[in-house]
Amino acid sequence: MPKDDTALPNNIFIGIGSNVGDRLSHLSWAVKRLGLFDELVLHRMSSVYESEAHTLEGSENQDAYLNAVVWLQGDISPVRMLELCMALELERGRARQEGMEWEPRTLDLDILAFDELRLMTTFLTIPHPRLSERKFVLAPWNEIAPGFIVPAPFGETVAELLTKCEDFAGLEKTPFQLLD
Ligand code: ADP
Ligand code: MG
Repeated sequence: MPKDDTALPNNIFIGIGSNVGDRLSHLSWAVKRLGLFDELVLHRMSSVYESEAHTLEGSENQDAYLNAVVWLQGDISPVRMLELCMALELERGRARQEGMEWEPRTLDLDILAFDELRLMTTFLTIPHPRLSERKFVLAPWNEIAPGFIVPAPFGETVAELLTKCEDFAGLEKTPFQLLD
């Protein structure tokens, strides 16, 4: 599929986060690399937000995250999309430890939604199950696709989910640009 083909069939939303090292450079690198894959084109990207780390009670304080959401169009399967995300996370040196879900991360790439798809397997759940609890996902997503109806079990637009979201952790839009 040529990169300039405008009829790529899948609309895919990816949430990107980093709270280690040069966070903006990790985010920008990931966006650039996603757009370089043959199967994908970068359709829109949000502003960059800074958010307080969500941590388990009793765990150590972590540095704040930078977060953004990108809208990709592609000709790709959901599983292949997950593989690409994980390959980029690994390449950027994210250390994964068994049983550590809230560890600091150089780069976290989450598939938020994939067209109207609903998928539940042991290693991939789409739409992302925790998206409605996270303003650092919904606020940037709302900038680029407020009217997208997030499939079941959500069944509401991104804008509606943002209005109802009860996440009171600190969140600020930054002046940073993802790609120069
Ligand atoms: P989170 O980003 O929700 O805090 P992690 O990034 O630590 O959690 O979880 C990574 C694992 O989650 C991956 O190994 C992947 O198999 C699984 N996973 C399930 N659904 C998704 C999804 N929609 N997007 C990305 N990873 C997912
Ligand atoms: Mg993740």
